[in-house]
Amino acid sequence: MAGPRKSAYSLGADELAAFFRERGEPAFRAKQALETLWSGRAASWDGFKTLPAALRAELAAHFADLDGTVRRVGLFEDPETGTRKPLLELADGNLVECVLIPAGDRWTVCVSSQVGCACGCAFCASGLSGCERNLESGEIAAQAVWAAREIGRRPDNVVFMGSGEPFFNYANVLAAARRLNAAPPEGLGIGARKITVSTCGVVPGIERFSREGTQFELSVSLHAPTDALRSRIMPVNDRWPIRELVAACRAHTERTGRIVTFEYTLVEGFNDSPREAAALLALLRGFPCRANLIPLNPVPEFPGRAPSPRACEAFRAALERGGLNATLRRSKGRSAEAACGQLRRRRLAEIGAGRTADGQRPKTSAAERTAPMASLE
Ligand code: SAH
Repeated sequence: MAGPRKSAYSLGADELAAFFRERGEPAFRAKQALETLWSGRAASWDGFKTLPAALRAELAAHFADLDGTVRRVGLFEDPETGTRKPLLELADGNLVECVLIPAGDRWTVCVSSQVGCACGCAFCASGLSGCERNLESGEIAAQAVWAAREIGRRPDNVVFMGSGEPFFNYANVLAAARRLNAAPPEGLGIGARKITVSTCGVVPGIERFSREGTQFELSVSLHAPTDALRSRIMPVNDRWPIRELVAACRAHTERTGRIVTFEYTLVEGFNDSPREAAALLALLRGFPCRANLIPLNPVPEFPGRAPSPRACEAFRAALERGGLNATLRRSKGRSAEAACGQLRRRRLAEIGAGRTADGQRPKTSAAERTAPMASLE
């Protein structure tokens, strides 16, 4: 067969149906295969026990190995919170992270949308080596299926908050989200409102997302209430400044009726004073939205730290007093590898100083990434 075998997670339901039709198999076979594929119960084609052995062998010869789309090569577990963070290898050897976060009896799965990230937010380990490539929709969806197998059932929530900027891989992210949302046997059956796409502020992506007619949730990483401050930690702000960003968010809510969540990573002495709280309130006045505060997860390449728990709570309370609905997210595991992109980063360092998985030099140096924050030291 010419070319690499295709991942079954990237197929439309009709493509799998065609595979069976071409072999003269009845339609229910495709349904059985889809059901097993998306339930996550089988880690290999041989595990498709509802199908005859000969068909299983044909599937194995035709499509990529089922555990080859994402294969676990490392694991970080936080005993305190129960958070599990596997390092997953893709078929071409690239690495991505996915995070399984328990809360009571519910599980949230955080998936990556790109290998690395091009955005270069100063505090985020995912962007330290630039972006290697976009993930295919199947590689994104397979992370959630892998997680379903790991936790023994369908996850309750999926958030696009792993490595990568979802709106720089728009079509594949939407295709994956639709697939995770699709009712079994054609998908995982996760409610649209339980699927959140998070962007660092790619305005054209937000505008397109508003017109999809879906009920997916939108999160926007704001992190600072003024352009002067935001541009110091988020290069994307130079392209789409705060005014444009918030206008796109307002238009999203007007069009869809969905409430936008603004992510705000708290960094001591940088964006956590009453002045920033007041500026944030002024910026979002009259806009029905939420703020989600995240104490900074320390990363070695960034010279900032989280404010004390008391200071974080004071910032939250100031927002609430000003009429903004604000939650403070307890950091799920502050241990060394907990923040975005850190597990992959460490593995890359082991493979060869600062080289990416395929042996290339990082596209941007760590020094360049942290330069906007130098004055913090
Ligand atoms: N590119 C997307 C989604 C990935 S990051 C986005 O920017 O929204 C998911 C969230 O984690 C973002 O809000 C991001 O800014 C935040 N984040 C990244 N590194 C962090 C760190 N070290 N501490 C706290 N939050 C971090």
